[in-house]
Amino acid sequence: MNKKSKPKQGIVFVVLLILSMRLFGGMQAEAPEHNTETQQEEVQVDLQEDAQTSQAEEKQMGVSENDSATTQNVSVVVSANAVDDTISKLEVHFLDVGQGDATLIVNDEYTMLIDAGDDSKGTTIQNYLQKQGIEKLNYLILTHQHEDHIGGADVILTKFEIDTLIMTDDTMDTAAYRNVIDAMEYRNIQNILPVVGAEYTLGDANFTIIAPIHNNYGDNINNRSIGLLLQHGENRFLFTGDAEADAEWDLLQSGMDLSCDVYQAGHHGSSTSSTAAFMEKVLPKYAVISCADGNDYGQPHAEVLNTLRENGVKLFRTDEQGTVVVISDGEQLTWNCAPSQTWKVGETN
Ligand SMILES: [Zn+2]
Repeated sequence: MNKKSKPKQGIVFVVLLILSMRLFGGMQAEAPEHNTETQQEEVQVDLQEDAQTSQAEEKQMGVSENDSATTQNVSVVVSANAVDDTISKLEVHFLDVGQGDATLIVNDEYTMLIDAGDDSKGTTIQNYLQKQGIEKLNYLILTHQHEDHIGGADVILTKFEIDTLIMTDDTMDTAAYRNVIDAMEYRNIQNILPVVGAEYTLGDANFTIIAPIHNNYGDNINNRSIGLLLQHGENRFLFTGDAEADAEWDLLQSGMDLSCDVYQAGHHGSSTSSTAAFMEKVLPKYAVISCADGNDYGQPHAEVLNTLRENGVKLFRTDEQGTVVVISDGEQLTWNCAPSQTWKVGETN
């Protein structure tokens, strides 16, 4: 997560300065626009990655006449630094919380937790976060009030500083819900309501609230799940909580761009969700299913596994692989394990 040190960037820039001075026969590097088009293009490509810091460093640094780097060396160094220097890596941890969801997102010192597992997982999540050196969450998002999503949230609210809590105003007559409300009162934290279209920044990433689109889903609180699209460089991550077919249909009707690289399969891979029409628009390269081995619901269901498989989606699942972590550098995605190849339907014990 550490960025490359400034001095290294500085050396690269010195080398670039010398190179450009040679190319232009001694002309000032800060005025490349006066040169021929071919030369200008070469230098602009090289300098592009350092654009944010170049002007300041240009003033601070002298140029050494003895530097003898070659063009080839320069371009190798710059391309190696390019991604690290412009965008910090984003980590997405799909925590193994048995039957439930808890997803930790980290970009440098910026952190977000989407859901907090069931009542028995609060301390497990607390320990995991503390192991990552996390003391504060910029965002805690509780997608909906079912126990497998908010059960551990009382612990998280109590043990961590929370900047922004996003939760709908739905209420439930359950101990899990009351514990969350008690913890909010204890820490004097108030939630803000999800507003579709609202955008938030998380370091070098940002996310947009895409759901719930309306309130008229009857008693089915799953369809009131907060949905969000997280963007980091070129990579997009879609989270829909336990949204089912009705809510997916409304998302489709909204005309929003739902395409993503990584999709957390809605409702733990249940056949109520990830409908074929929805998946046609989402078109993920990767999907993650968060569920427990031998859960009471037989998740993931065959329909969802078939849809994912037919679409060539690479699947990760916490019931088989434990906590799944993917790291984005803004372009590439790197996973902590190979995709699951079992396509095994959930079996209830
Ligand atoms: Zn759930």
